[in-house]
Amino acid sequence: MNARFRMTGRTPIELVLDCKATLGEGVCWDAGRQLLYWVDIPEGTVHVFDPATGENRSRAVGQPVGAAVPTKSGKLLVAMHHGFALLDTGTEELKPLLDPEEDKPDNRFNDGKCDPAGRFWAGTMQLKAERGAGALYRLDADLTVHMMVEGVSVSNGLAWSPELDRMYYIDSPRREVTVFDYDHESGDITNPRAVVRLSPDEGHPDGMTIDETGMLWVAHYGGGCLSRWDPANGERIDTIPMPVRRVTDCVFGGRDLDILYVSTARNKLTEDELEQQPAAGGLFALKPGVRGIAAPPFGA
Ligand code: ZN
Repeated sequence: MNARFRMTGRTPIELVLDCKATLGEGVCWDAGRQLLYWVDIPEGTVHVFDPATGENRSRAVGQPVGAAVPTKSGKLLVAMHHGFALLDTGTEELKPLLDPEEDKPDNRFNDGKCDPAGRFWAGTMQLKAERGAGALYRLDADLTVHMMVEGVSVSNGLAWSPELDRMYYIDSPRREVTVFDYDHESGDITNPRAVVRLSPDEGHPDGMTIDETGMLWVAHYGGGCLSRWDPANGERIDTIPMPVRRVTDCVFGGRDLDILYVSTARNKLTEDELEQQPAAGGLFALKPGVRGIAAPPFGA
């Protein structure tokens, strides 16, 4: 292991919630409420974790759910198997909004996130990950939906540069991070090209976040680690080994946005593997020595 492997000031990796999720995903920090949202996709549950108390509340939405983000009105916008809906975490009322893939019942929404202007981006995948069967959508505050990328296989991580001029995107089977030129005013994206490439022995790139210095953090599904990259030259800066193999997503949270929360999965693990990774499916946290960027709520 070389010297760059360790960053100064990094704290140990802590299991903050031993939730044994089947496929924990979509970690999202609500800076206004200081809460962490996450989903367990196949279980169809949306979770609200309060790091201050350790309390985790969950709500079943009756179908697989890929992401949940806060809205300006204080609800959660969720991307489910069958489209977008608003979830009131107080009354637990779930109000369907629209489904851009009503004609594709075998597709479901996967990861999703708000851009710096408060537009919600979420992509789909075919249930058996058929190549190119999904797409990436953008839902604007006026509830118009726009297909932004076609021919997606497993829509996953999203991030926007601190300068608001780039969008980063992961379609997992491609084993790369794609960058687009991003127009902050209109939400348009153009000029896609690959900036980061993973080798097959590193698992699949899954969720992603960005720190305040513009470096990308990628969760390795099946690769047992997080990696940090400089998108300007595609170079890996750091690797953080995790105690479980299926690392699904990461987001900066906490009052100072200096805690990296990491979701994981225990799906498709054998009995032996589960014995070796008893914390699989848990929610982890570490302080990597750098801060993230707060995402606005939907409609902001
Ligand atoms: Zn994912």
